[in-house]
Amino acid sequence: MQEIIIMEKLKCHQYQHIILISLDSLRNDCITAISSDFPDKFIGHGKLKTEMLNYVISRGTYFINCISAAPYTSASHAAYFTGCWPKRNGVYEFFNRQLGLPTIFELAKKAGMYTIFQTDFPIILGESVGFTRGVDKYFVESEGDAFLELLKNQHRSTVSFFHFGGIHYPYGFHKLKFAETDFPKKVFELENKFNIHYSKNSKKHPDMLDESYRSKKDKNFLLRYKAIIDALWTQGRYNDLHKLYIEGIDYFLKHRFNPFIKKIIDFVDKNDSLLVLFADHGESWSLDSRGHSNSIDDVVLRVPVILYGKGVAKNTVVSKLIRTIDIFPTICQYSKIARTNFDGEPINLMNPNNSIGSREAFAQVWRVGDRNKVYQHQQHIIKDKKMIKPLSTKLEKEAAYHDGFAINREYDVDGRLIKEILFKNTGKCLVTIDKKYGDITHLINLLKKYNRIRCYKNHKINNLKRSIVDDLKVLGYHI
Ligand SMILES: [Zn+2]
Repeated sequence: MQEIIIMEKLKCHQYQHIILISLDSLRNDCITAISSDFPDKFIGHGKLKTEMLNYVISRGTYFINCISAAPYTSASHAAYFTGCWPKRNGVYEFFNRQLGLPTIFELAKKAGMYTIFQTDFPIILGESVGFTRGVDKYFVESEGDAFLELLKNQHRSTVSFFHFGGIHYPYGFHKLKFAETDFPKKVFELENKFNIHYSKNSKKHPDMLDESYRSKKDKNFLLRYKAIIDALWTQGRYNDLHKLYIEGIDYFLKHRFNPFIKKIIDFVDKNDSLLVLFADHGESWSLDSRGHSNSIDDVVLRVPVILYGKGVAKNTVVSKLIRTIDIFPTICQYSKIARTNFDGEPINLMNPNNSIGSREAFAQVWRVGDRNKVYQHQQHIIKDKKMIKPLSTKLEKEAAYHDGFAINREYDVDGRLIKEILFKNTGKCLVTIDKKYGDITHLINLLKKYNRIRCYKNHKINNLKRSIVDDLKVLGYHI
């Protein structure tokens, strides 16, 4: 039996280049290849153009029912990069602990591949969390230079990662560097429109947390933008916030992303490459959802994942449930990176629909306390360049998805359940249903099982056994 599996594995094409692109905060329903009325509601019918993303989708496979393991950046990326649940890899809170498991970059380097990492968020996707481990060349806010590095190394085997923060607030811009005139202009315009006056000395300071290093001038515009967002959210102006978000996507795609992705598509077509395009979480404004970091709304957890490369099923939309932790095991199958212990399961890229059985997805939000406390903690970490004693945290919200149903649960500071909602998962979105129409106990038991997971460092799993199971799954066996 084992020989047959090994022979079948040899048939899986091993790509020379693996290219990962992360569009931070991109909601799945903002890609217009799949009809959705969300963007149209805010900036007019058909105005949001995602033509380059649509182009990749038409030539590749688009997973529309992929659930992120966390609504915040570090934890979500850690799940993609380790193929393991946040509770297993150690990064399950906003920004509090280091990765306890090797990442795709460490394992690729071990396999002799050259690794490139470009990020707009060097603080939360950087050294202190463990993201630079195994990275040969690390770039900050310079996708052009990172792409040149890839070109320079195209004769080798590579794994490269390009992260963009332009869809995150300040919507569309990320930094003055990318919108020297338009970013300040927008801040003035919004302050006037909504009559908001930011004061540095205000006692009620907006969110001071940052994802990147900034000049004083840049920081000032960011804080003013955050003060606008804070005011709009407090006033319940969710439509205004969504409009800003959609306009931001439009701006970012036009000014920064489209020229970049054209170069990547050209590279993929000329070289033996697998492209994986994804988001870490979405964005939503409501009483319960302040953008993304405190939210388990389906529109925040449901993330677009698009794969493209020679041999990947073309023009294929997959509505079966997958998880962000399934991406690394899938890449492993199609590269020379050696197999490791994953929670995720691989997907057969030639025939994705038939290789995906019944999968369970989980996501959690951990409460850290007030934002100023987290900011002070972040400042210590930046100064010491390493993680310090973690802040104490408590589970605030959690979600489980399985077999066409999903559950959201919320807890108070003492851990008491204060909200519980059951949903039907249509494969494209969630619809609220009465608890009597679904097996809520089953979903609660899944969450209990999930909460028993501990960091892998303390676990020993039989590697061989795990790899045989994964091989069988990618061949289409439902086990
Ligand atoms: Zn993010």
